[in-house]
Amino acid sequence: MALQKRRRGPATTGHQRSAWMKKSGENRPMVQACPNCAAPRIPHRVCMSCGFYNGVQVVAAKSADAE
Ligand SMILES: [Zn+2]
Repeated sequence: MALQKRRRGPATTGHQRSAWMKKSGENRPMVQACPNCAAPRIPHRVCMSCGFYNGVQVVAAKSADAE
């Protein structure tokens, strides 16, 4: 099993972690358009503007047009 020779300091860890986050962010955009109302929405989360998830309204919409 490979063992590291020295512990990495917080600055070195931060530099490498920043590169990982940037790379993963390019591959997986964290904001997508809602299929119901086309508002920006985080994937696999309920849309905060219309309250829809997977084609079903699961929470009350923020705007006044619902009910
Ligand atoms: Zn929506």
